[in-house]
Amino acid sequence: MSLTIPVKELIQNPGTMKELTLSHELEYPLGTEIIAVPKGRELSLAVRLESVHEGILVTVSGDALADSECSRCLEPMQEDVEIELQELFHYRPEQEDDFVIVQDRVDLEQALIDAVVPNLPLKPLCREDCPGLCADCGERTDVGTHNHEKPIDPRFGALRDFGS
Ligand SMILES: [Zn+2]
Ligand SMILES: [Zn+2]
Repeated sequence: MSLTIPVKELIQNPGTMKELTLSHELEYPLGTEIIAVPKGRELSLAVRLESVHEGILVTVSGDALADSECSRCLEPMQEDVEIELQELFHYRPEQEDDFVIVQDRVDLEQALIDAVVPNLPLKPLCREDCPGLCADCGERTDVGTHNHEKPIDPRFGALRDFGS
């Protein structure tokens, strides 16, 4: 299903509204290079379209799973992304970046990008207190196999304490 929704019956008909559930398989990744909902994953969005004097007020909510890598331990991870947005699609835009109704349709693509991308973490963590990798051996410190006998270089120990 496309992110473009026909709204013809709502146009110039203030006070009317419609609600729908939109399932959309992403045609490109939604996110940043660090973390993104991948191409091909399905978004399920609850959409409310309300006709108002200036245009159509669009409210969207839903969630999606983004793929990433923990910025500390580098393990693959997934993060729940909440999608909440409300935008007015204008009949006549007042500003350059106003959303506009085109050919009796609203296109949610850019609004979705604007709502999701700025809220993604810059440094995703698999969990809040991820201990990351051992500064001495580079292994993850929270797994059973991490049990080396090598004495820890005090310089690395100091660095690690500083960082925590
Ligand atoms: Zn981690
Ligand atoms: Zn180690």
